[in-house]
This record gives sequence, structure tokens and C-alpha cells, in this order.
Amino acid sequence: MHTIKLLKHSKTPDWQFELANAITCVDELLQWLELEHLKDDLVQDPTFRLLAPRAFVKKIRKRDSGDPLLRQILPLAAENSASGFADPVGDIDAMKTPGLLHKYKGRALLVTTGACAIHCRYCFRRHFPYASANPRKNEWRAMIDYLECHDDIREIILSGGEPLILDNDRLEQLLGTIEQIEHLEWLRIHTRLPVVLPSRIDDGLLSLLQHLRFRTTLVVHSNHANELMTDEMDVLHKLARAGVTLLNQSVLLKGVNDSATALIALSQRLHEAGVLPYYLHMLDPVQGASHFDVPQHIAVELINTIKTELPGFLVPRLVRETPGAASKSAIFTI
Ligand SMILES: *Cc1c(COP(=O)(O)O)cnc(C)c1O
Ligand code: SF4
Repeated sequence: MHTIKLLKHSKTPDWQFELANAITCVDELLQWLELEHLKDDLVQDPTFRLLAPRAFVKKIRKRDSGDPLLRQILPLAAENSASGFADPVGDIDAMKTPGLLHKYKGRALLVTTGACAIHCRYCFRRHFPYASANPRKNEWRAMIDYLECHDDIREIILSGGEPLILDNDRLEQLLGTIEQIEHLEWLRIHTRLPVVLPSRIDDGLLSLLQHLRFRTTLVVHSNHANELMTDEMDVLHKLARAGVTLLNQSVLLKGVNDSATALIALSQRLHEAGVLPYYLHMLDPVQGASHFDVPQHIAVELINTIKTELPGFLVPRLVRETPGAASKSAIFTI
């Protein structure tokens, strides 16, 4: 993955400056959090280095090495463990043209960009060959042709990487083209930016989403209630007012959200933000992330516990991705 470097330019929106100014230096992060002593427990991975916008880092508690947001971005030496796979979910096999994954009936997923605003250490696409899979400018054509020829596809999913890293002009260009394909009715956006870089949800984006003919759903990716503070709640409310259906997906992560208390707090906070929980994903066996793994029997226990404490609509569906399966696989709970 790569980050975007930008030169100062009068029309550059604020979120792009924030992104260009994100923390990439481990020393700076540790110094800010007063956790310099952690330095020796970290690794340098030049292909997937530390990356977090300051808006995210501000939500991390100082002097707490176990902070659930910190754990998601800190490149621990445990990443050197050799277990796991580079392509854990069979994405390469499902790729029909550069950047288009058609795994499940009726839904096609576009890997719109390889860039992200944050590097989540557990990311299942951290070894994804974005350089060859990523359609560059003016290379949307092959994807559009595929979509035009498959009239059983009703829903188009923008994913990544981080689809909202595309600026409003690029998004408008892409969505404008997609909108002309008549059999596409639903648009879904998988994004982490409402909780990582809330300034990205600017007026231009809201207006763009509001004026599309699609029935639009935005699936946020938030793993912990502490990710949802005032700014994040504000932009989610704005999205809801723009007519966007809001769902959330999380990954079950050891040391981040593997307790009933954390999962309940997350569901409640999401509900306050107008977002319903959708999936709770079991960790994909991606290389470098095994220290986040939560065994399945624990995951089932957690869901059974939170079911007794929350209304059914605040309980996420526990799923795992099985390469080659026709959908995400539900994991049986009581
Ligand atoms: C997860 C995923 C989807 C969406 O699946 P839903 O169950 O509809 O949320 C679609 N395409 C791909 C390639 C996926 O990995
Ligand atoms: S989990 Fe999502 S936001 Fe995080 S690095 Fe992976 S693709 Fe990017």
C-alpha cells in the first residue's frame, strides 16, 4: 500500500492536508503517547509502515500500552511470526478484471484504490498486490465493461484500500459512469474514514451521495467505542441525513474488542450514531496478524453473552470468510 503525498495547493481540501500530515514515524507516536519504552518491541515493515492520521491518534490514551486503538496501529515484533497466508480469502481468484472482485451472486466489489488513511496491523489485504490489481486513472474501462455485461449484478461495492481516499471529483467521475449502467440499483461503500479521518465526510461528498440515483449504504469499519467521539458521531449523523443507510463491520481482535463489555459499548455507541452493527468478522489468517487471533469458541461465547444484554438488532452477525464459499459463512451461536 502507498500513501498519497500532496503539494500545497489552494483548492486542496482540509482532509488531504490531514492525510499528508498523518503520523508515520514510530518515534513521534511513542513520544506523543509517552510510551518511548515500547520502541524495542516494534518492527519496521517498509511495505506496510506505521500510518495513522492525528484525528485517530488523538483518541488514544497516553501512557497506556494496552489502549485498544493503539493496538490496531502499532507494528509489534509479533508480526514477524510466519503463520498465515498472503491472500487469506481467495481474492486473487475472484478478480475478474484489474480491481473487480465478483465472488458473490448479485454483488461486485471494486478495489478502487490501494491507498489507506490508516494501516491496520490485522488488515487482510495487507499483502494484496495493489500495484497490479489497482486500476489507474483511465483504466476503469475494463471494470465498466464487465459490469455492463453482467446484468445479474445489482449492487456495486466500493472497497479498497479505502475508496473515500479518492477525491470528490474522481468519485463523481466513477459513480457517474457506474450510474449509467441500468441494472445496478444499489451502491455500497466500505470505509473506515468516518472514524479515522472524519473531515473526509465533507459537504461535497454528502451532496454527491445525496444526488445519486442509487439506494446507498455505507458500511463503516469501527472496532471500538473509543473510535466514535464527537466529530465521528457528527459526520455519521450527517450521512444519515443525506439518506445513506449506515451499518458497521468490525473485526474481532484480541486485545482490542475481545470482551463482552467492549462489544456492548461499541454497539451502543454505534446506535447513538445512527449505525447498526452488521458483521463481526473472525480474523482472516493473514501473515503477520496472528497475535490478534481470537479462538472461535471464545467468539461464540462473547456473542451469546451480548445477546442476553442487547436488543437483537444491536448484535452483529459473527462471520468468517471461507475461500471459495458463495457467501460469508455465519458462525453458529445460540
Ligand atoms: C464481503 C464481500 C462482499 C459483500 O458480502 P455481503 O455478505 O453482501 O456483505 C462482496 N464481495 C466480496 C468480494 C466480498 O469479500
Ligand atoms: S483494514 Fe481497511 S482501512 Fe485498515 S488497512 Fe486494511 S483496507 Fe485499509
